[in-house]
Amino acid sequence: MSQIQAPITQDVLTIPRKLPEGARNLVGLTRPQLRDALIEIGTPEKQAKMRVNQLWQWIYHWGVRDFALMTNLAKDFRAKLADNFVIDLPEIVSKNVSADGTRKYLVKIAGGHEVEVVYIPETDRGTLCVSSQVGCTLTCSFCHTGTQKLVRNLTPGEIVGQIMLVRDDLGEWPAPGTGTGENGPRLLSNIVLMGMGEPLYNFEGVRDAMKIAMDGEGIALSRRRITLSTSGVVPEIARAAEEIGCMLAVSFHATTDEVRNKLVPINKRWNIETLLDALREYPRLSNSERITFEYVMLKDVNDSDEDARRLVRLIKGIPAKINLIPFNEWPGSPYERSDWSRIEAFADIVHKAGYASPIRTPRGEDIMAACGQLKSATERARKSRAQIAAETGS
Ligand code: SAH
Ligand code: SF4
Repeated sequence: MSQIQAPITQDVLTIPRKLPEGARNLVGLTRPQLRDALIEIGTPEKQAKMRVNQLWQWIYHWGVRDFALMTNLAKDFRAKLADNFVIDLPEIVSKNVSADGTRKYLVKIAGGHEVEVVYIPETDRGTLCVSSQVGCTLTCSFCHTGTQKLVRNLTPGEIVGQIMLVRDDLGEWPAPGTGTGENGPRLLSNIVLMGMGEPLYNFEGVRDAMKIAMDGEGIALSRRRITLSTSGVVPEIARAAEEIGCMLAVSFHATTDEVRNKLVPINKRWNIETLLDALREYPRLSNSERITFEYVMLKDVNDSDEDARRLVRLIKGIPAKINLIPFNEWPGSPYERSDWSRIEAFADIVHKAGYASPIRTPRGEDIMAACGQLKSATERARKSRAQIAAETGS
């Protein structure tokens, strides 16, 4: 029998870290960058590649933060590393646990800004929803993050750091010395770039972080377990296929340009047809099977049978799955969630046309951890409902 639990809020006390003056953080460096950093402190070029491998495993595979514990490195080399470098993660400011087990973390990054990270446990896997920016340049009218201005892009270290922090909290680092590779079922088994921000507007940061996440000697998650969600930054889609190669989700949300212009304003720059052309190329370029179309169900806006039929016609020929997301309301949001029967009728039409059309179960709603509800508490440049309506013409 399941027991109903009240949400728990917990302030996590982190010990203030004192970093050696001028020390460089190794977290988030690419392999070539790490190699150069080691050569700069006097590591002979011939040894550099092996040292990169060793450090990489300690940092990303076993989750060790103290150079002194890296026992396969010579003592004087460990001391030199400690003099010059740190292994530093963002700080967890608070953790909220929903009645359904979803965990929302507020994470503080350099400069005092905050981003949210959400861990969603399921029976056979656990998905981490990672943020790529503080705020967002785009202004999708149904999205809470969209009411917040972009503050800055996250660095690769801050992006991969979110994964590392949550692995700490889940107690999920393999014991030092145990082999690299997939290592059996994981609590944190999937990553979705569906937190705050538009990942393709922080291309290099996201790419370098995901390369670490996918590296067999690093976090070692297969590229099929990583999904990047974009609102439709068309020129970067082919590049994402070539340089990242993970799974792609697209925030589609409407079946006419008129409606999509209002919901996802980037559509005014790259419309549905242009977006679909780019998506058609993605599976071939990235060698991935299918694209996820995300479709937020907004009452009387985009949820009619006609919309469902148009959607099926539009995506014809693209290997796809359609994720129907019941709209998650946030304070002041200008839309309502479609009725359940409407969502099911919509799903049915899409399903009968031969596409998987799962309806996403809202998770973590009691702690405002659901999709699109994430917003930094530090940045309170909120727009009112009236302002949003004026801008979107809705
Ligand atoms: N910027 C990227 C990724 C972050 S948003 C993008 O737009 O794809 C992650 C997903 O949550 C997107 O599909 C977005 O459209 C959806 N979303 C945003 N606000 C939402 C809300 N209030 N309810 C349900 N889904 C929402
Ligand atoms: Fe930005 Fe995505 Fe929200 Fe649109 S839906 S405002 S792109 S985070």
